[in-house]
Amino acid sequence: MVDYIGIADIQRLVHQIGAGAFIERLAGEIEADYRRWADFEKSARLASHSDVGVIELMPTSDGQLYSFKYVNGHPKNTAEGLLTVTAFGVLADVATGYPLLLSELTVTTALRTAAMSALAAKWLARPASRVMALIGNGAQSEFQAIAFHRIVGIRELRLFDVDAAASAKLERNLRALPELADLAITVCSSTAEAAEGADIITTVTADKRNATIIEPSMVKPGMHINGVGGDCPGKTELHRDILLRADARVIVEYEPQSRVEGEIQQLPADFPVTEFADIVASARSPRRSDDEVTIFDSVGFALEDFSALRFVHALLNEQRDTKRQIDLVPRLADPKDLFGGVLGQASPQAKLRRVA
Ligand code: NAD
Repeated sequence: MVDYIGIADIQRLVHQIGAGAFIERLAGEIEADYRRWADFEKSARLASHSDVGVIELMPTSDGQLYSFKYVNGHPKNTAEGLLTVTAFGVLADVATGYPLLLSELTVTTALRTAAMSALAAKWLARPASRVMALIGNGAQSEFQAIAFHRIVGIRELRLFDVDAAASAKLERNLRALPELADLAITVCSSTAEAAEGADIITTVTADKRNATIIEPSMVKPGMHINGVGGDCPGKTELHRDILLRADARVIVEYEPQSRVEGEIQQLPADFPVTEFADIVASARSPRRSDDEVTIFDSVGFALEDFSALRFVHALLNEQRDTKRQIDLVPRLADPKDLFGGVLGQASPQAKLRRVA
């Protein structure tokens, strides 16, 4: 039997711990895995593009465990009542190749993306950062807000979305959370207004084009930019001059993948970037001054899903009573007798048929 985490299970696991604490613990797992970067088999994800979206496979392994995620990105989906991003994934045992866990990853991707964003900001943003502009108030946005409140200490959020209903939904959801009682929320009427006075700008919009969500004039010395929504060829959020600022530093997850999918796809292939693993390994903030502009050019890397799958699997295993399993792989008395054990006369199914 293979362990299974569906929507009801992830709901239970998150509610038991609380969303903020869950994201914080997950950020710790992700950071620990980035510390052992060399252990991981790394490759850019395999993407299948269409006019309206992308479907991607994201595999990795540390030699003991193997994981992959199936994930899509279809910005027009919400107009038809569907999510922009859905995902599921598998954790497997390298020694036998057997799958250990099949898990939903739609909710877990939002949790891990927020955990990764806040983790990067913890290393990169000025420690005194308290105000964040949150541009794009769709499915990922609550998770980002909770993570930055918990891990970075954000106490004022300035929201903007081209869809006013999305901002109203985000404000409503955040105000309902007791753990965010000390968070001030302002809904703004433009990105420029939201960015005013912000220490951090998070962009988490969905649009399959080279959008310019953030203009150079909105970026002030010392800001940290958490660019989450530009994560595909031809899908970016930042004006390229922001990346080219003399006082800016760009941090990516896995450089070969980010060159194709990140904001840096707009720049020459030799434009200097720093991988997040190098920052974690150096054990001190890479920030050279309070005026430096730091840019986390996030696209999402397979290691973060590996950490998330490992984390939710460990939580599930603490709950033996409620753990669910599925018969994804047959259990056989004779492993060479797949036919007989599953379809032959001696198989459990055949016995059941005879009893009936
Ligand atoms: P969503 O469709 O639920 O929300 C996107 C929001 O952006 C919508 O409310 C939309 O109205 C808004 N928007 C679009 N254009 C805008 C603009 N010009 N200005 C302001 N708001 C605008 O999507 P989601 O699930 O929240 O995902 C958001 C983005 O994050 C997607 O592009 C997705 O691919 C990306 N993503 C990245 C990672 C990562 O690891 N980097 C992980 C998950 C999702």
